[in-house]
Order: sequence, then C-alpha cells, then structure tokens
Amino acid sequence: MRVSRGQGFPDRNRSRLMATIQDRLRIPWRGGAKQVAFDAILPVIILPTMFLLAAISLWWTVFSFTAVAVILVSVFKFFIRTIPRTKFFIVWTVTSIIILYIIFEFLVIPLLEILVEENIFLTILFAGFLLCFYLMKIRNNTLGKIGESEAESGYVGSYNRCSICQVVVPEKDHHCVWFDCCVGRHNQCLFVLALFFAIASLLYSSNLTLTSVCHPFIVYKSILLPDDCSDVYQQFELGLSFVAAIYSLGLAAFLLMLFLHQILLVSLGLTSKEWRNLSFCAKCFLGLCSKRPHSLGFVKNWSRIMCSNKTYSNIAYSH
Ligand SMILES: [Zn+2]
Repeated sequence: MRVSRGQGFPDRNRSRLMATIQDRLRIPWRGGAKQVAFDAILPVIILPTMFLLAAISLWWTVFSFTAVAVILVSVFKFFIRTIPRTKFFIVWTVTSIIILYIIFEFLVIPLLEILVEENIFLTILFAGFLLCFYLMKIRNNTLGKIGESEAESGYVGSYNRCSICQVVVPEKDHHCVWFDCCVGRHNQCLFVLALFFAIASLLYSSNLTLTSVCHPFIVYKSILLPDDCSDVYQQFELGLSFVAAIYSLGLAAFLLMLFLHQILLVSLGLTSKEWRNLSFCAKCFLGLCSKRPHSLGFVKNWSRIMCSNKTYSNIAYSH
C-alpha cells in the first residue's frame, strides 16, 4: 500500500534491508568467506550483460541501453539515501573503464585499422585521466578527518564536513559519487582536468572505433568520420566494438555537461550547492545577477583553485 502510494519504505527499514542483503553475500575465499557488499557487485553484473546483449542487434542495443539508463536513474536516489557510502558508483566507473579498455585493445586494435601514433595519442590522454584521478583521490585522503577542529586543521576560511568521506573539506563544491571523492578547493582543478582527459579519450577512442568498424569517409587529410554502420551487427566482435563506441559517446556527453557546469561554477565563484539554491530565473542569467559572496572575480576565482595553494598544504600536512 505504501509503495503504491509512492511513499516508499521508511529509511530505517531500507537500511535494514540493505544490511541484510549485504550480510548474506559471502564469497568463499582462502582463509574464510569474504564478505562482499551487494551494491558494489551490481555494476560488475549489469555492465557486461548490457554490452553482450547490446551487441546482438540494433534493437537489443536500444533495449539494453534504455533498461540500464532506467536502472541507474531508479537506484541513484535509493542508494544515496539508504547507503550513502555505497561503492556502487565508483565500481560502475572502474568497470566501465576496464570493459572499454579491453574491447579497444583486444577487439578494435586487431582490426589493424588504427595507426601506432593514434594508439599512443589515445594512451597519453587515458594516462592523463588516470593521473588526475589518482592525484585527486590522494589529495582527498590527506584532508583532516572529521572531529578535528578547524583551528587544529590549520585552515582558516570556509570549510565543510563531508559525512560520506568523513573529512573536513576546504571550500567544498560537492561529493562526486562516480569518483567516490569530495571535490573542493584542494582538488577541483584536478577534477576539471580529469573530466577534460576523460572526455577527450572517450571521444577519440569512439571515433577510432567507429571509423574501424564502419565505412569511414575522409573529412580533411587523415581525419576520418564514420559513414555507414549498417553491417556492424553481422559479426559479434564488430557489434561489441560498435556498442562500446556508442556507450563512450554517451559517457562523453554526460561528462561534457559536468565539465561545462564546473567551468561555469568556477568562473562565477559559486559552489554546486549555491548553484542549486538559485532560482530558475537566476539560473537563466547564469547566476550573474545573483549574490556571490565567495566570488573574487573571474581571474582570482580560477587562480584560487589552481593546484598550488598554501591553505591546502596547511590542512593537508598538519596531520
Ligand atoms: Zn565526500
């Protein structure tokens, strides 16, 4: 009855249900069973299934991509509310990276359509993303734990506590579930750079894949674009590569929106929370006419988040 009224279960019951499911999932392991969180395992099942089904035909691609999009939208709020520290989203990110990498290196490269230089350039973009992602996490891990006072942390200025990371975050922007990391002044430039490299690698790899598995045409000199992709489902490997390219394009579009949003927020000197609190009308004017108490002007807003800053090192190294 509760569900039919759209009220859902009370949060306490949800948490209890999730705790029970998590407790039941034990994998036999050397030296005793290993407990694995149910939510963290889901992406490892969902993503490969989606890729395998989508590679069958165009209709299967449309069906499985839509089904996965619906699943993601429906579990997003449920997980955030019920198990805020869920590893579901970071496992989703890592599984996506691994699947896309395996498909590219083991299915697309053997087609021998891609030049060594092109593969090297893609590897550089990918390495750029991995490096920024790694540094971003490292910086988050060096922040002061919750419970230590502001004075102890040595940081003077606006700061926030993240209940998920359990850390004190200087000028917190938001907690990114996909990277399982807080984004604030200490790592926002790395976050923006990671998004840039991720978008570039996804767009470039999907272009290389599509021009390998579809009939390409020359746009300018050696720049190719896919033309006719009607034959891709005739061979399973080609279908799988095609699906990976389409998934990459979808991811790139999603990340591009995040990237542009971050560029706008940093330029305006607003945090994600402040942006959400703006009225619809204020958002239409890009927040330019609204109060921005933390804005120092375009140039200073950008220099504030650039990687070398003294206040960050105070908070990082005082522990
Ligand atoms: Zn956080």
